[in-house]
Amino acid sequence: QAAAAARQRAEADSHNALISVLSAEMVDAQAQEVARRLGAREHLPLAGVPTVIKDNLNLTGTATTCGSRMLANYVSPYTATAVARLQRAGAIVVGKANMDEFAMGSSTETSASGPTTNPWDPSRVPGGTSGGSAAAVAGGLVPLSLGSDTGGSVRQPAGFTGVYGFKPTYGRVSRYGLVAHASSLDQIGPLATSTRDLALILDAISGHDPLDATSLEAAPAFVAALGQEIRGLRVGVIREALAGNTPGVEAALERTLDALRQLGASVGEISLPTLQHAVAAYYLISTPEASSNLARYDGMVYGTRAEASDVNASMGRARAEGFGPEVKRRILIGTYALSSGYYDAYYSKAMKVRRLIADDFNRAFGQFDILVTPTSPFPAFRRGEKVSDPVAMYAADVDTVGVSLAGLPALSVPAGFETVDGRALPVGVQLIAPALNDERLITVADALE
Ligand code: GLN
Repeated sequence: QAAAAARQRAEADSHNALISVLSAEMVDAQAQEVARRLGAREHLPLAGVPTVIKDNLNLTGTATTCGSRMLANYVSPYTATAVARLQRAGAIVVGKANMDEFAMGSSTETSASGPTTNPWDPSRVPGGTSGGSAAAVAGGLVPLSLGSDTGGSVRQPAGFTGVYGFKPTYGRVSRYGLVAHASSLDQIGPLATSTRDLALILDAISGHDPLDATSLEAAPAFVAALGQEIRGLRVGVIREALAGNTPGVEAALERTLDALRQLGASVGEISLPTLQHAVAAYYLISTPEASSNLARYDGMVYGTRAEASDVNASMGRARAEGFGPEVKRRILIGTYALSSGYYDAYYSKAMKVRRLIADDFNRAFGQFDILVTPTSPFPAFRRGEKVSDPVAMYAADVDTVGVSLAGLPALSVPAGFETVDGRALPVGVQLIAPALNDERLITVADALE
């Protein structure tokens, strides 16, 4: 019943949070299956909980468009491992969430299905690229959702919409069935309104999957990490993230640090000098990977076939018509950075910077148990403000991409509001843990909640 009601809310969604709503039959079939398993006395931690998944996650029989015209007619023949695991825990998928085309962007404005608006202020973006997953939770359509995070796409929209957004350690969650953007960075992550819900969903989706060779063997127990003391926790604030923030973001960070002190944590500051190169390195690593991953969309192997006189012309036309401007830009940058004359100067150099950033984080974790930054230097920006200025859009990722390059787990927690033009806009604070210590973030966020 909850799922049927959520499906109806989804049909009436006023934020364009969803690209598609599952048929009543598909929702009903899932609900029947949950009822049957409950009848068989199975323990289902998420029994009957309605959820939406980002439209780059496959679910058998549903359209998976990645917000692109290229995949307008694609129907998934299989289900992503994380989605199957969510269903195995009892959750019911009611819709596919809107996103920037192929998960490239920071605002959910580049989708072929039109932009998603921020439930707190429809003149503003919900963040991106999992803006649909975030708006669906913040707007009350569903209590939890799945997004994907390559350079901040779960954390930043969570921050912009006042919900929790978790980016696990790289490899914690299987990427099988997630449409690839930049394979060495992509991770699936949950969005929710409480740390308990986050923990339930993380327990459901984490763990090794033989279908993803990069998935990690053991998974921590997330629910067991709830309700623990954080007395004595050493919290490090990253100095490079203290400059350039709006007053409301600064105040939110201060409040969070005060709350941590009250809970018995000690707070210090630490510099990670290589982070100043994180945005540049991220875009020189993610675009080459994307240019290679997106080679399959030629209208032959994948994507909508285009009529033309010969095969090359057909592929060219399929790509010219199927991809939007941001995707094309990235294919061009990525191909350039990988090309023989420029590989050493760009891609290979960026890989070295990536190593230095990871080393910087490791050094910091010798001194601190968690690190803290704002999730973004500012709250949700206006629609249209950055979409025609790629460099400004890329700069919006300054607080999140370093973590992604180092493969670390990070969580954006709601940290209050900043009033802009008379409207209260949510502000997020990012908690970062050492690799494989994902559950520590649940403990800290739960203590703060
Ligand atoms: N904004 C970043 C990008 O455009 C992050 C995207 C993501 O995490 N999917 O690449």
